[in-house]
Amino acid sequence: ADKEVAAAHTQKEYAEMLPRRLRDSHKGTYGKLLIIAGSKGMAGAAFLNGMSAYRSGTGLVQIYTHEDNRVILQSLLYEGIMKTYQTYQEESLEEALAWADVILMGSGLGLSQDSRQIVSYVLTHTNKPLVIDGDALRIISEEAGLMATLPGRNRILTPHLREMERLTGKSVNAIKSERKSVIINFCKKYECTVVLKDSVTISYRLGERLVVNTSGNAGLAKAGSGDVLAGTISGLISAGSKQVKDASSFYEQVLAGVYIHGKAGEEASEKWGMSGVMARDLLPEIGRCIKELE
Ligand code: AMP
Ligand code: MG
Repeated sequence: ADKEVAAAHTQKEYAEMLPRRLRDSHKGTYGKLLIIAGSKGMAGAAFLNGMSAYRSGTGLVQIYTHEDNRVILQSLLYEGIMKTYQTYQEESLEEALAWADVILMGSGLGLSQDSRQIVSYVLTHTNKPLVIDGDALRIISEEAGLMATLPGRNRILTPHLREMERLTGKSVNAIKSERKSVIINFCKKYECTVVLKDSVTISYRLGERLVVNTSGNAGLAKAGSGDVLAGTISGLISAGSKQVKDASSFYEQVLAGVYIHGKAGEEASEKWGMSGVMARDLLPEIGRCIKELE
């Protein structure tokens, strides 16, 4: 129970959480991240995921998305490997899952039948570290039986308040007023790690400390910033995936990701103003914020 006490970290502590960049290394050293994101008519989320993951140090990104997004994403993210589908096919998804060290699923995924089948397949066919964001969270809360396939120590959920409302059945106001007990109870039930996003974001993993994030500002209250957070967290987990000391160390990447995302928001707001800043402006700042910490 002691550990369930809120903790704050210093810059130095965040620096120690980051994956090391080793002299004797190659791209495989920093992990293969599979990003399952975007949908017909929605390519931006997958781009923001992928860019943030690369800026966070991941070695290789593969994007699994709808065929309509192939050319758009290839022109935006030259460094990404593209795997696309017209309609859901189990075989290609199975192949992509086998390739990955870490998986991010859900940003801009939409609520189509294909997306629902994808989410269901991933939940039931992998135990690899899996970050679950956006529409995947919504699908899990809507589809009968999917909540039962959620539990797992390797699963990291990044809901905002409205998504947490759907997952728990508790109202946004109830969650806001008792957010610490809500997040702890949810993690006890589903074994997963949760990043509950709001103007102040809190994170929790069973057996670890509940952490109240101290970075960020209202410049982040704009479309796409959650996609950047999901990419940053999964990128850090991927970058550190070959250096994991113990099971708790991906929680450190989660905490560092939330902190760096907030810092990137502060830095980008310095340049563009809190009203003018856009999610894309966070991307270069992620790299710089990590450099500042190193
Ligand atoms: P999403 O709603 O999924 O796009 O996620 C929004 C992201 O921006 C989360 O990481 C939030 O914590 C962050 N965010 C949104 N509004 C604010 C705010 N007013 N202050 C600080 N962070 C915010
Ligand atoms: Mg979101």
